[in-house]
Amino acid sequence: MIDLKSLTLREIRLTLKEPFVAAGGVQEHRRILLLEMRSRDGHTAWSECVAQERPGYSLETIDTAWTALRDDLAPVLLGAAADGQHVPAVLDAHVRGHPMATAALEMACWALEAERQNASLACLLGGTQARVPVGVALGMESDPSTLVEKVRRCVGEGYRKIKLKIAPGADRRFVAAVREAVGPDIPLAVDANGTYSRADLDVLRSLDAFGLIMLEQPLHRDDMAGHAALQRELVTPICLDESVTTSRDIEAMIRWGSGRIVNVKPGRVGGLARAMNMHDLCRESGLAAWVGGMLETGIGRAFNVALASLPNFSLPGDLSPSSRYWERDIVEPEWTMSTDGFVDVPFDRPGLGVEIDRDRIENLTRRADHIAS
Ligand code: MG
Repeated sequence: MIDLKSLTLREIRLTLKEPFVAAGGVQEHRRILLLEMRSRDGHTAWSECVAQERPGYSLETIDTAWTALRDDLAPVLLGAAADGQHVPAVLDAHVRGHPMATAALEMACWALEAERQNASLACLLGGTQARVPVGVALGMESDPSTLVEKVRRCVGEGYRKIKLKIAPGADRRFVAAVREAVGPDIPLAVDANGTYSRADLDVLRSLDAFGLIMLEQPLHRDDMAGHAALQRELVTPICLDESVTTSRDIEAMIRWGSGRIVNVKPGRVGGLARAMNMHDLCRESGLAAWVGGMLETGIGRAFNVALASLPNFSLPGDLSPSSRYWERDIVEPEWTMSTDGFVDVPFDRPGLGVEIDRDRIENLTRRADHIAS
């Protein structure tokens, strides 16, 4: 059990190398909430909250997460001895919702425990894959030819899955152009971020022609029944992302037949313990699973890579190298990808497996709150 001494919340701002366009809006920079946790026995660990600036993707924002962490979640945890496995239960007893804020706190506890044991986080989680395949998510473009150029570049860099963001009116034409350009063998996926309705069956069914490995979150996050009806009409496997926040959502997905694949994002589902429960449930139920990304820095990436080393994460994760998003990351070494599209899991290094660039974070910090027990 960890005896927590203090937490420091920091907000930094990083500019993306290029704007990222999805159905929820355009992102040109990221306001990022970092959490630094200290234990009484002298260990330190960092984590990252994936909440975005605006509530276009989820109910939480960086500002709601900050308030929840400072005023409600951190005081509960600082008064209790807990490890990563038990943090969700401790916090659930006091606070409803706020899974992204909860995840930041929970993941810091796992990292702290790894530091105390001088073990890698991946080892602590029970990871088995020494290297994990990497996919990339490409934002929407104004014309197909620009998208095709970007896809070609990613194929050349070795990515093992190319995911295209789509939305009504920006779908079939773009997917057709990309498939035509890259040929039938490149694994392509699309992600609609819940922007279609049950009335869009024809256009969604037309995507079957392109041999996609998945159609991610076509309908509203609350629409399990709609996804089930759609899956019965499609050859392409449906992957649920926003619809799945807990293992109970996966149970409902299985009962309904609402899809065959789950995108597990630890920062979105309340942390690593819940993400691992979801991994196990998918394995028992024959669902495929993979680890998604939320435009994290190298700190959040470390947690995603460790999680992705679990055995049933068999599809490529959104684990792009640091250089895809940032001119310079806040960890050393930066995360890199091999030319055949894999990231090495740092089993041989303790904790997150990367050093935190504290000076750079100090320089980037826009605000901070310190909470001590
Ligand atoms: Mg998604």
